[in-house]
Formats: sequence, structure tokens, C-alpha cells
Amino acid sequence: MGKVWFVGAGPGDPELITVKGRGLIEKADAILFAGSLVSEATTRWAKSGCEIQDSKGMDLEQIVGWLIEQAQDNRTVIRLQTGDPGLYGALIEMVQPLDEAGIEVGVVPGVSSAMASAAAGVESLTLPEVTQTVILTRVEGRTPMPSGESLPELAQHHCTLCLFLSITLLKKVQTDLLAAGWPEESPILVVHKASWPDEEKIIRGTLADIRDKCRAEKVNSQAMIIVSPTIGARHWSELKKSKLYDKSFSHRFRKGISE
Ligand code: SAH
Repeated sequence: MGKVWFVGAGPGDPELITVKGRGLIEKADAILFAGSLVSEATTRWAKSGCEIQDSKGMDLEQIVGWLIEQAQDNRTVIRLQTGDPGLYGALIEMVQPLDEAGIEVGVVPGVSSAMASAAAGVESLTLPEVTQTVILTRVEGRTPMPSGESLPELAQHHCTLCLFLSITLLKKVQTDLLAAGWPEESPILVVHKASWPDEEKIIRGTLADIRDKCRAEKVNSQAMIIVSPTIGARHWSELKKSKLYDKSFSHRFRKGISE
């Protein structure tokens, strides 16, 4: 019996896959990739003879059926997923039937679009004395949110919020954040197709105008919304520095100098 690997392909740029993920692609006998979000270029390291299939038109049952069939043929099989497989990736729905079929499973993490979007904007998701917390979430759409996790509730923390799957719900993002006490001028970063060569779009705005800006740029899919008190910190004149690099701060690898 072969093994099925769920491999994080990263956010789009084929070079953002991990070394381990790439090594598995080179070795794989069969690769099923999520063509709507994973660049086919990521499969360019596959050996000749590797069976490569786009899962764009397949439902869960067909996907799982394909993976099981390939693995039963004693092959090394890859399910190539966008970003990290553990975030909005239906991972467990696919793993359970594989467990039932007695097929070994492995997961290789990937660079999530949340991280790639922050990188695209040269932003830090945490800053000393500003926020030390990041919430990865989504706005309620067709998938209901569990209790306590609605945007108005999460926004109460005033920490960094990375909103997946929510670009068509920007109106709700505005309303909910205003209701949670975020000022209209709160900066927002929207990144469309972060890291995709020649396709990435970075849109900066505020709670008040981000919707109009996204509309003007025709951004209505594959976008990350980052709302954070850290956005734009690159241009701040007053910045609280991290203790880690402070001259007077001692830690395991360095003795601080008292002034
Ligand atoms: N597992 C993925 C998320 C899958 S859900 C990850 O870790 O990134 C799909 C959502 O992810 C999209 O609606 C969008 O909000 C976000 N997304 C995926 N790729 C993106 C990219 N390259 N740029 C911006 N957002 C992206």
C-alpha cells in the first residue's frame, strides 16, 4: 500500500513550497492538485511518468476515491493544497476515509497566504506594545461560525485579524469592526494573489474606503484581508522596539549592558 501526502504548496509562487514538499513532488507517482488555487507550475519538479491531475471539477468523494485508488496501487501520492493544508483545507474530511481504508497519511506544512500577504506588504503581524496576538479567521458566509467566533466578538480584542474567504463580505467587515469600536481610519491591507508572479495586487486603505478601493481594482476573489493596529508601521517615527535586541536585555545567548 502506498502513502498519501498532503503537501502545502504555499500561497502561489512555486518557489514558496518547502524543500521537503519539493522533494516529495520529485518522488511522487501521482499528484492531485487544487488547480483553482495552486499554480500548476508547482508540479514542474515531478518525474516523467508521474500522473498529474487537477481536482478543480472534482467533489470530495471523487478526490478521496482518486487518492485511495492511487495509493492502493502502491504509489506515493500527493494531494497538493494551497497555503497550509491545516487552514480551511478540508484536511480531516480527506484523512478520515484514508484512515478507514488503512492508508498511511503524512502532512507537510506550507506557507499560508496570511504570512505571504504580510510579507507582500512588508508588514509585521505583531509589534511590541501594539499587539502580540494574531487571529486567523473568516467572516460568516455559507459556513456558519461557531459561537463566540463572530467577527464583532473577535474584533473586540483589537489585535491582528487575518480574514480568509471574506473579500466578497467587505461590507460586513466594515460594519462589524466599526461596531467593535475600530475607528473609520483604521488601516487595512488587502492582498490579491499574494506571491503569484505578475498577478499580485496590494491594496491599502482604511475601514472607510477599502471597499471602494477593492472595487476599483476589481479585487473580489483570492484575497487576504489584514486588519491590524500594526499596518503601516514601517513609516512610523515612534516605534517601541523588541526587547530581544535591546542593548540592556539579557537572554540565554547574550548578556545585556546596563546603561
Ligand atoms: N490553506 C490556505 C487557505 C485556503 S482558503 C492558506 O493557508 O492560505 C482560500 C482563501 O485563502 C482565499 O479565499 C483567500 O482568502 C486566501 N488565499 C489563498 N491564496 C491566497 C493568495 N495567494 N493571496 C491572498 N489570499 C489567498
